[in-house]
Amino acid sequence: MTTIQGVVSEEGADQKMPPGVLVEGPLVDAKVREIFVLFGIIYAGSIAALVWTIMQGIGWVEIAVFVGMFWLTMFGMGAGIHRLLVHRSFRCGPVMRAFFCAIGTMAVQGSVLRWVANHRRHHLHADKPGDVHSPYYDGVGNRYVSFVKGMLHAQGGWVFDHATTEGEYYAKDILADPIAMFFVRTRWFWYGMSAVFIPGAIGYAVGGIHTMIGCVLFSGLFRSYVMTMATSLVNSVCHSDGRYGYRRFELNDGTTNELVISILTLGEGLHNNHHRFPRDAYISHAWYEIDINGLIIRGLGKLGLVHDIFVAGSQTPRSRGSYGGKRSIPDPKAMV
Ligand SMILES: [Zn+2]
Ligand SMILES: [Zn+2]
Repeated sequence: MTTIQGVVSEEGADQKMPPGVLVEGPLVDAKVREIFVLFGIIYAGSIAALVWTIMQGIGWVEIAVFVGMFWLTMFGMGAGIHRLLVHRSFRCGPVMRAFFCAIGTMAVQGSVLRWVANHRRHHLHADKPGDVHSPYYDGVGNRYVSFVKGMLHAQGGWVFDHATTEGEYYAKDILADPIAMFFVRTRWFWYGMSAVFIPGAIGYAVGGIHTMIGCVLFSGLFRSYVMTMATSLVNSVCHSDGRYGYRRFELNDGTTNELVISILTLGEGLHNNHHRFPRDAYISHAWYEIDINGLIIRGLGKLGLVHDIFVAGSQTPRSRGSYGGKRSIPDPKAMV
């Protein structure tokens, strides 16, 4: 058994799953069905995209739409779903909240309700039994003996687990939020907008039918797959207990900061910082830790589009005083 610095071994412990985790019942069956349909479409589309790229080739339009949609939805997921909805790192009005829900759902990573519930559960049980996507424990709380198997689970296998997280337990605020729930109910529309209709419309407008097909396959469906792989690096590599990246804070979990993943995910790869100060809107603690999501949130604050930007641990903004409107520092333990 490999010794893991920051991860307390739970061998021999009662591996009953904690409350808020469902391992059977209609909600689990529905989740599994939806995941298989969603990933079936994304996988089939990605294979078609590779075949199309080899047989027909792609041009600058397909690449530009890929890059544009990648960064837009990455920002939606990181700043919108993760920092706004999960951690309440800042506040905003209904129009901006709807905008964040829209571009977050367009990351094609499940509904905002499931994302929020899963992620709060992840923080509460980080790298312990009950963690939804840890490299150290599987979906029902058994410890992985093989580090590679654990990494594969964290990198993507977890989404197929016959288990789900109870929204009633972890995300009552989302269930009570009419804006967020509108996007939960209409999630397939936003998946379609992201993976098919927006890339297709841009492709058709710029280059006609041929470019439209290339944009749908390469910039829509294949980009959705790449997005999933890129963001999952936070679950796997950034929980590698220092094997990859570095630990700024010694925490009782396997989190690390990884600078390349931070660039790729607009800052979410500063994951050790994030687990230390989960509610911070800006998670950089050094000049070389580039947190693009945090910088954009600060910029939106200066424009008055978001407010109450939470800053507990970030040294840079604290040393410069408040920014982005009214500053509020509630109890950091109030929200994981
Ligand atoms: Zn984590
Ligand atoms: Zn988080």
